[in-house]
Amino acid sequence: ERAQLAALKNAPAVTRDGHPVELAANIGGPKEVPLALEHGATAIGLFRTEFLYMDQASAPSEEQQFKAYQSVLAQMGERPVIVRTLDIGGDKQLPYLPIGAELNPFLGYRALRLCLDRRDLFKTQLRAIYRASVHGNLRIMFPMVSGVEELRAAKAVAAEVREELAAAGIPFRPDVPLGIMIEIPAAALISDLLAQEADFFSIGTNDLIQYSLAVDRTNQKVAALYNPFHPGVLRLLKLTVDNAHRAGKWVGLCGETGGDPRLIPVLVGLGLDELSMNAGALPAAKKRLRELDFKACAEHARHALGLATAAEIEAYLAESIR
Ligand code: PEP
Ligand code: MG
Repeated sequence: ERAQLAALKNAPAVTRDGHPVELAANIGGPKEVPLALEHGATAIGLFRTEFLYMDQASAPSEEQQFKAYQSVLAQMGERPVIVRTLDIGGDKQLPYLPIGAELNPFLGYRALRLCLDRRDLFKTQLRAIYRASVHGNLRIMFPMVSGVEELRAAKAVAAEVREELAAAGIPFRPDVPLGIMIEIPAAALISDLLAQEADFFSIGTNDLIQYSLAVDRTNQKVAALYNPFHPGVLRLLKLTVDNAHRAGKWVGLCGETGGDPRLIPVLVGLGLDELSMNAGALPAAKKRLRELDFKACAEHARHALGLATAAEIEAYLAESIR
């Protein structure tokens, strides 16, 4: 078992017919990088930076953040690292940033909305990220983008930070790709427009499923309705992947479904360029990927998209793809 795992670690992440899919890890901080590498991650597909902000009495300083980003980049070498800007709110709260009680926190003051309102916090983080950019292969990703205006506003703040760093003579890479999470249904629906102005997409199925099916991802009473096989969810995924590729852009996926062996064949068949997951799920995902035939997966995805219910889709995929 151990030897098998070690062999898998260095095996290329490709289907039987040679179609590559980047298998990346989701992390919450620098300490998680060694495990990701041990499990064969060739990229960090999602660095959830909110963990740097949690469990402390005040916001992390620029220096503290810089050290964390630099450490992740240094450990990953030339491999890509996608750093997601602060995604707080929803179910995650900070003691020094009282959001107040909200009737619907997942629809409330959170993530990019909060950052665009609190420029001080946002700019400190972007300064730290840009300063770290000279230490590796960095990409920046904005969470919870609902439309083109928000993307433009976030990019404008990033541009402001670059100008300030340049004026101060502080080194950074000016060409860091700026991408977005697709996790709001309206963003998936206008992904053709967003693809014109974002450098890449990563689909956040945890939230995309919650919002498209109107099922709170933390509510056990409706957990049975939280279904990634729902045809509406699959249509949003297909639309997003097709729109990204039509614009010549890269599209990954970093929700929990990315590491679900039942879904990997359909995700590969839809044409996702990358799947990012918890490190523990990587070996099984690579094993699964290497057993698959890309052309067959594409055909099965096409067929699955014509079925009427989540149960039919799940059963079809389980039967047709061994
Ligand atoms: C997602 O929404 O799928 C995602 C990856 O982000 P988070 O789970 O941090 O909301
Ligand atoms: Mg999310």
